[in-house]
Amino acid sequence: MGNPKKRHSRWMRDMRRANWRLSLPTLVECPQCHEKKLAHVACPHCGWYKGRVAVVVPQKEEAE
Ligand SMILES: [Zn+2]
Repeated sequence: MGNPKKRHSRWMRDMRRANWRLSLPTLVECPQCHEKKLAHVACPHCGWYKGRVAVVVPQKEEAE
């Protein structure tokens, strides 16, 4: 019960391990700064997540 009937070949096992990260992560547009960001992750540009600033993004110190 719940066990594989037949053992996979080495090739099947290796293909399973080789293919797990092929698809690209989902990108959505940040509602705050309209940059493309990862879904379900705070925006790396402005720190915006779920309608508020969730993360303080460290600003690069540049003379301006
Ligand atoms: Zn943003």
